[in-house]
Amino acid sequence: MAEMRQPIESGAPDPKPYMHPTMVKNYGKWVYHSHPKPGVLYHRAESGDEIWTVKAGTQRQMDGYTIRKLADIADQYAEGFVRFTTRSNIEYMVTDEKKVEPLIKALFDSGFPVGGTANSVSMIAHTQGFLHCDIPGTDASGAVKALMDDLYEEFIKCEMPNRVKLSTSCCEINCGGQADIAIIMQHTKPPKINHDLVANVCERPSVVARCPVAAIRPALVNGKPSLEVDEKKCICCGACYPPCPPMQINDPEHSKLAIWVGGKNSNARSRPTFHKLVASGLPNNAPRWPEVSEVVKKILGVYKADARPWERMADWIERIGWPGFFEKTGLPFTKYHIDDWKGHRRTLNASAHIRF
Ligand code: SF4
Ligand code: SF4
Repeated sequence: MAEMRQPIESGAPDPKPYMHPTMVKNYGKWVYHSHPKPGVLYHRAESGDEIWTVKAGTQRQMDGYTIRKLADIADQYAEGFVRFTTRSNIEYMVTDEKKVEPLIKALFDSGFPVGGTANSVSMIAHTQGFLHCDIPGTDASGAVKALMDDLYEEFIKCEMPNRVKLSTSCCEINCGGQADIAIIMQHTKPPKINHDLVANVCERPSVVARCPVAAIRPALVNGKPSLEVDEKKCICCGACYPPCPPMQINDPEHSKLAIWVGGKNSNARSRPTFHKLVASGLPNNAPRWPEVSEVVKKILGVYKADARPWERMADWIERIGWPGFFEKTGLPFTKYHIDDWKGHRRTLNASAHIRF
């Protein structure tokens, strides 16, 4: 009997067995690349080998039928190799230019838009939501679908001043932040504690250690060990909810969505930047989140009209200034937009507790 392969529990797998053979052959030996049209990249290697990459948007949370459909397109119109990007796009690689247009047609005909390269609005990097995670306050994937339906033309065309990266996050503390425009869950009320359950479900010291502003204390409630929250200190971040589900913070009315702008991870042309809050308190309005779409489209419209060629969102805002950003977009500026971290040494949790 063949020996069972032991699972490797850590580290990224070796990608080479899954790569297109032309990419393996020319690994690290590419001379230049260009962008012949939206959704297509061209790479040329030192050896003279060429490869065209065709990028298409997907809905990320895919059923078996859709994945088989994408695989069939790879076999029939490409060369049998694909890769997924972190933004849920699928990329097909072909070594013959004649295959590019039939591949694009097959993708569009099957409902997968080709685009998302260069100065387009790329697919939204979005978080796992209800399918994989136990703490979401909204359905990030649903918000992405609704928003990308509205931004379809910006995905398939390259008409933005520079690349626009969007992200969503279905809780306030974990994945999905930091983008040109980020849509992030925003709780506005402290957690409601179900004291009957805390002692059975929660490891109280880890919950206490979780709070970034040290607002949680152990307490005896109705004779049972529980927790209490200093609501004046609580910043409604929701970090206590994952280790202690009885500290319910998701609320149909008070859990809102906020929009942050100007985040950039790359060093291209200008330094990386953190994004900043520009709209808050938007209703968590499934299934189409129209209020969120309206704000995102308003920001994108002003950026498209006002930014200079190749200015990323953060560069544009730096040039016109934050007052200019609020004036041009017409978004209201309130005291909640300002956080200068004054007094943070006193208010932030500086304990030596281990955090999980
Ligand atoms: S953003 Fe938060 S809720 Fe959404 S998948 Fe990530 S950890 Fe889970
Ligand atoms: S962890 Fe966050 S939500 Fe929970 S009590 Fe502390 S500040 Fe409030």
